[in-house]
Amino acid sequence: MHKIVVVGGGAGGLELATRLGDTLGAKGIARVTLVDRCPTHLWKPLLHEVAAGSLDREVHQLEFAAQAHWHHFEFVQGEFVSLDRASKTIGLGGVFDAEDGQQVLPSRALPYDTLVLALGSQTHFFGVSGAKEHTIPLDTPEQAERLRRRLLRTCMTKSACNQSGKGATVNVAIIGGGATGVELSAELRRMEKVFSQYGLRAPEQTHGINITLLEAGPRLLPALSERVAHATAVLLQDMAITVLVADPVIDVRPDGVLTRSGKHVAADITIWAAGIKAPDVLMSLDGIEVNKMNQVCVNNMLQSLADADIFALGDCASCAWTSALFVPPRAQAANQQASFLAKALKARLGGRSIKPFRYIDRGSLVSLGSASAVGSLMGGVIGGSILIEGLIARVMYAALYQKHLAAVAGVRRMLARLLIQGLRRTTSPRVKLH
Ligand SMILES: Cc1cc2nc3c(=O)[nH]c(=O)nc-3n(C[C@H](O)[C@H](O)[C@H](O)COP(=O)(O)OP(=O)(O)OC[C@H]3O[C@@H](n4cnc5c(N)ncnc54)[C@H](O)[C@@H]3O)c2cc1C
Repeated sequence: MHKIVVVGGGAGGLELATRLGDTLGAKGIARVTLVDRCPTHLWKPLLHEVAAGSLDREVHQLEFAAQAHWHHFEFVQGEFVSLDRASKTIGLGGVFDAEDGQQVLPSRALPYDTLVLALGSQTHFFGVSGAKEHTIPLDTPEQAERLRRRLLRTCMTKSACNQSGKGATVNVAIIGGGATGVELSAELRRMEKVFSQYGLRAPEQTHGINITLLEAGPRLLPALSERVAHATAVLLQDMAITVLVADPVIDVRPDGVLTRSGKHVAADITIWAAGIKAPDVLMSLDGIEVNKMNQVCVNNMLQSLADADIFALGDCASCAWTSALFVPPRAQAANQQASFLAKALKARLGGRSIKPFRYIDRGSLVSLGSASAVGSLMGGVIGGSILIEGLIARVMYAALYQKHLAAVAGVRRMLARLLIQGLRRTTSPRVKLH
């Protein structure tokens, strides 16, 4: 049977493996395998909520092995480390127990006929001194969890240490004024109110957490329209979040950051949300061409330029959008590319051809806490964009996650999960406290 291997079970890879499993796998036309270094999937745009403690990762993650069982594909855990195009195999590193370091699975080789790379992206520190050592990036559920615990610990220490009864302020610096930095700053401000209910913030303070958002470029949200950026800046100001733009961070220290203009911003916790690149492993793959962000260069069928049997999608793919632009690294792009490849790979096996991939920008939304979001809708669909704000925008933002869940888990399971999460809210604290 034709072997299709999808590497990376994120926003795009999991949707693709699920669709291929439901069609080709269920009918015995192809053997579909999903590879991921982790045993579970968490939709990446939820990470800022995990970091702020407002969303429990354990409740929202999907187990790959169960997903594979339900959708007729196979799941193999392991880190993709190499490619051998001559023998059509990929190399996977060993799997080790997170607690005691014992080897669970050895290094292995996995054969493929068609390979899809869906490895997503990783943090890019751009060589800024001290950034790797003294910041917490927000790229994986483990990092989001680390940030949450650090925040909780710092809030506990600072609200308790002062003998005069006045708690000390916690200083948080967020480097990067893109969607991740903006969403995280708003979520932290929202959760701060909840912290005081559980004794994690001195009650007499208006703001126990001082939040500074630093952006190197001239404005927030450089990838979105000026209108959205302006509306966001106004809302962040209302939330007492300090925004510094046009002043790149040049040095990160254990107690804060230094900007090019000489400003020192004190920070108990510094978060890096300033840029991404595709994983380093892609740089050294057997003849596969990548750009300077390590993204695999693909044509408009999402095929790598060097090998027609190797495809790439999502954040790790460099695919032309217009003559001047490339498809942006967004969940909606990964979703559209997964839908396209599910059809294209099926057609390819049947000896048919389909129209090339075309990215449609449906607009962007940025979440600003539980009751608000801001963004533009429709984008390329109507050739312009409509600015939306407030609760409607927030509901639409939340619907994006439910849409992803419906695509991977099915509408019935998505609704069941929604109900369970609603019920959990009535019995659990609003912030994860341990
Ligand atoms: C905090 C945050 C908020 C965001 N908010 C939004 C938003 O509001 N809207 C939006 O459109 N986009 C948002 N994004 C971007 C969006 O999450 C990504 O564009 C999207 O997840 C990309 O999907 P992907 O399938 O390419 O990769 P990912 O979803 O990142 O998945 C990659 C998968 O590959 C696996 N993997 C990586 N390396 C290896 C390896 N070597 N071996 C095996 N497995 C590997 C990972 O474990 C992961 O499961 C946000 C991102 C972050 C971090």
